[in-house]
Amino acid sequence: MDHVLHLTCLVCGRTHAPEALAYVCPDHGNEGILDVAYDYDLIGTRISRATLARSPDPTIWRYKPLLPVEAYAPVPPLTVGGTPLYAAPRLAADIGLRHLWVKDEGREPSASFKDRASAIALVRAQAQGAAVITTASTGNAAAALAGLCASVGQENVIFVPAAAPPAKVAQLLAYGSRVVLVQGSYDQAFELCLEAAAEYGWYNRNTAFNPYMTEGKKTASYEICEQLGWNAPDAVFVGVGDGCIIGGLHKGFRDLLALGWIDHIPRLYGVQALGSSFLLQAWENNEDVLTKAPTPADTIADSISAGLPRDRIKAMAAVRDTGGAYLGVSDDEILAAIPALARGSGVFAEPAAAAAWAGCIKAAERALVSGAERVVVVSTGSGLKDVASARKAVAAIGPEPLTIAPDMDSLRTAFAASPSGAPAAR
Ligand SMILES: *Cc1c(COP(=O)(O)O)cnc(C)c1O
Ligand SMILES: [Zn+2]
Repeated sequence: MDHVLHLTCLVCGRTHAPEALAYVCPDHGNEGILDVAYDYDLIGTRISRATLARSPDPTIWRYKPLLPVEAYAPVPPLTVGGTPLYAAPRLAADIGLRHLWVKDEGREPSASFKDRASAIALVRAQAQGAAVITTASTGNAAAALAGLCASVGQENVIFVPAAAPPAKVAQLLAYGSRVVLVQGSYDQAFELCLEAAAEYGWYNRNTAFNPYMTEGKKTASYEICEQLGWNAPDAVFVGVGDGCIIGGLHKGFRDLLALGWIDHIPRLYGVQALGSSFLLQAWENNEDVLTKAPTPADTIADSISAGLPRDRIKAMAAVRDTGGAYLGVSDDEILAAIPALARGSGVFAEPAAAAAWAGCIKAAERALVSGAERVVVVSTGSGLKDVASARKAVAAIGPEPLTIAPDMDSLRTAFAASPSGAPAAR
């Protein structure tokens, strides 16, 4: 890995040789989050926009020279990355925009953005000959790690808060993971997982502890720019919990700017649930995220419920350094965004993913984005992950389904009685 120069501690700025550290800065304990620094000149001799244009590989591995893995490292067979970027003109028009795209991360193998990070964890763990990989998760990071491990028969242990949605836990069990349901919060499951990994010597995928997760997540920015013909968007919206995704998106854009493949970095807008708004509060009150006490975390958007965002340093820099903002949305706004996004673009999102659209609406109301700008909303996970929330969302706005006997008379009668009447005839 001659293209990785060093790891920089984001607390003290000290640099470390990549081989010297497994996870965090030794001087700063679990807070000592590291950033991976690259030799862009060297990388530029190995990959270019032209070589990418000829690459038949649709997955994140098309960007392998930009990732913290050896060129020869075997990669898992699942198709991670290569998710669609859909133009959404009707959604755009709803809020006075003209150029809007939805990046559908529900199309990842385990149905969320987390597959991008877990794929890197798996490749690195196997390169080190790890017997077991572990993570704590509110659900999606776990499912991502579980699915990728299943694809290559890698043993793994997953710590999940006992309150995680049943669909997410079922997914883990189907993939054959050893599942530990922790009777406590995500934050408690995270701490327990760190202790267990240290005690048993497992490879640790935990977000913002393992510095390489950002490096997987950054591939979404590469794809967005490549899908837009290397003309970077002006603004990107994404739901934020721990802050690893938004930090990863930022890293991806910074890589591309350093390589000279794009000419600007989009403004990054982090959308938080008002019930779990550590970063929003820190942003609005100009607080130091390292000393700020954890906030309560209670929201229907379980994937962005984090009282102490683990990747808060990178998450804050992503918004501050790009001229973006943190935005807060209520659970009702998040729920309303599920059918709005689905009806306006055909993308069915789980609550944390729909939060990005709710935040985009808010930004348009506040004139933070203008009609001429090119805007991307990242839908981070599939609506099928949390069907209970989707049902709640549609029940609130209708229309109700028509329940009828299996004959045309019943259908005609039901249509006649329904407020929206019969669908148009030819
Ligand atoms: C994890 C996740 C997020 C938030 O990512 P962070 O890195 O925790 O900020 C948003 N949406 C979905 C669907 C997720 O799984
Ligand atoms: Zn340090």
